[in-house]
This record gives sequence, C-alpha cells and structure tokens, in this order.
Amino acid sequence: MRFAIVDNVRTVPSPGLIGACPVCGSPTIAKCGAVRVHHWAHKGERHCDTWWEPETDWHRGWKDRFQADWQEVILRSQTGEKHISDVRTERGLTLEFQFSHLRPEERMAREKFYGSMVWVVSGTRLKRDAPRFAKGMRNFHGTPLKGVYRCHFPEESFPTEWTNSVVPVCFDFEDASTEPGKTEQFRGSLWCLLPGRVDKQAVVVNLSKDTFVARAKANREPIPSAMIFARVFYPLMEAQRRRAAISQAAALQALAMQSQALARPRYRRRFRRF
Ligand SMILES: [Zn+2]
Repeated sequence: MRFAIVDNVRTVPSPGLIGACPVCGSPTIAKCGAVRVHHWAHKGERHCDTWWEPETDWHRGWKDRFQADWQEVILRSQTGEKHISDVRTERGLTLEFQFSHLRPEERMAREKFYGSMVWVVSGTRLKRDAPRFAKGMRNFHGTPLKGVYRCHFPEESFPTEWTNSVVPVCFDFEDASTEPGKTEQFRGSLWCLLPGRVDKQAVVVNLSKDTFVARAKANREPIPSAMIFARVFYPLMEAQRRRAAISQAAALQALAMQSQALARPRYRRRFRRF
C-alpha cells in the first residue's frame, strides 16, 4: 500500500514510521528498502485484502498519474466486503492495474465487485504476449474511426484469460521485448479490447496513455466507447441484421419452392379400368 493512517492522516511511508491499515486498522510498517517500491506492509500477518498484490514500479507509475486522493480508495459492498481499488475517479470509475496472472473466476469476481471499471494489464508479464500481439494486429481491420479496429479472432492477439472480460481491458505493451523496430508502436500507447462482440468481431482501440489519463481525470470515459458504439458497433449490428434478414428471406423462399414441388404430383398414376 502507498497509504496508511498516521495521526488520522493518509500518509506515504518513510523509514521507521508505524501506521494503521486503512482497511482493517491493524498496525503497518513503512518499508523503505532499495529493491521494492516504498510501501506499507501489515505487521506479521498477510494483507487483509485478499486481492492485494505486491506493487511494482509499473503499478506505482500508473497510479501516480492520478491525484493522491483517487489512489487506493476503499470500497465496501453491501455485504461488508472491502477492497482497495487502485484508482477510483470522482465519477465512480475504478481503474485496476494488473501485472500478475489472474484466474478467470477472480477476474470475474473483481469485475462484479467494482462494477464500473477498466483494466490496465501489463503486456510484459509473459515473453510471448507482445510478439503474439504484434503478429495478431496485422489481421485487424480499420474502421471509420482512427485508432479503432475490428478483429475477428481476439484470442490470437490477446492473452485468452482476458478475452471474455465484461469491461474494457487495456494492454500496456510498453517495455515489452519484441523484435527491434516493433516496440515503437507500443510506446506511450494502450491497446484496449472492448467487451462484447458484434457479428463475431471484437473492437480494439489504440489510444495514447496521455489521452486515457486525461479523459479519466476529466471524469470522462477513458475510452470513448459511446462514440465507438455509435460509429462502429451499430453499423456492424446493422450489417449483421441485414444479412440475417436476407438469409431468412432466402430460407423462406426455399421453403416455399419446396412445398410447391411437393404439392405438384411428380407423376400421374394411371388406373386401368377393366
Ligand atoms: Zn489491513
């Protein structure tokens, strides 16, 4: 954690300081070593928030792009369950920065708990993630919107544990090691997989990290999904609907022809009278 309570004030760690955990109230010790980012740790027992993970420079770098009072906001469910969101905007949007592997059940539990949220996932965890994306993106199709693409097989480009999320998942491939010359397209930008499919296609958005942060800070959607829905999803839905209507009409026509053929006797049986 970046913040613990010292004399009733949210305080960053400094050597020798003792604080209280803002979630459970138990004592926390300031850890200010040279290896890991400076943080607060629970004295003795493990963290009271089971979803909490040790922070990396990557986490801290992202969180620090937002104001301190939006960081590490404690949320309580109606059942009393408490979790610390990485960043929570004034508008009630949670941003979660995920570095380590997350089991699908846990991902779903977090999506359900936070409701309105966006994931930012590090694309550097596995060596194959960035090269696979660099290869997969060659099959993206453009749309009328700059930086917005259609993608038929998102699981060929993104880690499969993230492809069925019900909220936007933004991949940060910056600092991932890919072939030389290929890292440029990842510099300073995010690649976001939007939830849902239309006409079996996913929508992928490329936007700069600065735009993402600026929009969130201005209490706007970090990814302009309403506009993307209107300009990309809706035409796709229309096309799908039209195609379905055409194939339905074709099926009806085939059925009509078939029943006509059945109604017409194929041959006449002649009865010989004696
Ligand atoms: Zn605690």
